Amino acid sequence: MFTSIAGRSVIVTGGSKGIGKGISRAFAARGARVLLTARTAEELEMAAAEMRATGGDAIGAVANVSSLPDMERVAQRALETHGGIDIVCVNAGIFPSARLEEMREEDWDGVHDTNLKGTFLTVRACLPALKQSAHGRVIVTSSITGPITGLPGWSHYAASKAGQLGFVRSAALELAKYGITCNAILPGNIRTEGLEALGAEYIAKMTESVPLGRLGSVKDIANAALFLASDEAAFITGQTLGVDGGQVLPESLSAIE
Ligand code: NAP
Repeated sequence: MFTSIAGRSVIVTGGSKGIGKGISRAFAARGARVLLTARTAEELEMAAAEMRATGGDAIGAVANVSSLPDMERVAQRALETHGGIDIVCVNAGIFPSARLEEMREEDWDGVHDTNLKGTFLTVRACLPALKQSAHGRVIVTSSITGPITGLPGWSHYAASKAGQLGFVRSAALELAKYGITCNAILPGNIRTEGLEALGAEYIAKMTESVPLGRLGSVKDIANAALFLASDEAAFITGQTLGVDGGQVLPESLSAIE
């Protein structure tokens, strides 16, 4: 249905687990050349090896998104190994919970260093190579939390995710002259290792609040990323794509039967 993305060079931050692993797997399965990053070497290598075992072209590079030298090293590796960078999936993120009364300054800074500063540093480091691509794409994994909804215990996270949208819209304008599009996916609650860590009670409550009656899968998000990376999405920029099973729609609890 869509033009092939085989051979395109893709970077996925936070590619060792969850949504990032799902995105990496989907690109690798379609013949793209994938470089995935995370901080934990063993998990990262296992994820890349899993993709290679099914015929994918995938390598891992250990890097912290809140470090510019790390991200410049990642961009360099993609240049050397894959000959350039076409698609950057800015996905690494953390979501620890802390109520405002207990939240420490370092809790706030930690979330913003990874989620928001990491977004800037990833794009900053990849930009010189991305500008050379004829199909440049930046795809940010934001969230419904912050841009659309609020969630007690996650004010630092929500602020970082809403901040990513300000970044996306302004970056889209700056990058337009190079033909690079910049968009955000807003996932609802997606079953990942990170989400499982929030506990069974959280997952049960969230499932009840989804009109389509289930939590999302990493494939649901990967499909949105594939679409935004496609040639067919070349005229879409500065936009958000919600993938949440309708979770943000109900005006009241009684709206979900
Ligand atoms: P996850 O399962 O916890 O995976 C997070 C990934 O990010 C891992 O690969 C992790 O590896 C990496 N990572 C974390 N901090 C990093 C850092 N400083 N530098 C480099 N890599 C880092 O999380 P997920 O649920 O897939 O979430 C992925 C993204 O989706 C996040 O941006 C999150 O905000 C967003 N999101 C998730 C949901 C959901 O329901 N799951 C909903 C909305 C939005 P290391 O720890 O080894 O670095």
